[in-house]
Amino acid sequence: MACMCGDTHCSSCGPAQGNSRCPICRSWQDDGCEHFDAVTGLFKPEFLAEAERIYKAEADADTAYYAGLAEMEDPTRSDT
Ligand SMILES: [Zn+2]
Ligand SMILES: [Zn+2]
Repeated sequence: MACMCGDTHCSSCGPAQGNSRCPICRSWQDDGCEHFDAVTGLFKPEFLAEAERIYKAEADADTAYYAGLAEMEDPTRSDT
């Protein structure tokens, strides 16, 4: 379900327009925050490790979530 509001601060439309949220402070990138370099749009080196740690934690949480779903839907578990 795509949102078409076009707001760069919309959780759906923002990323579609190249705007993203800082995983550390949850600020939108176009608002600027201390973690992004305003010139390059990349994380500042001192925050890069922390940002990657958060991204990895989120990815692991997603993986665990989908693994849990797959387990619930596994038919071999229901006939025991
Ligand atoms: Zn939207
Ligand atoms: Zn930030």
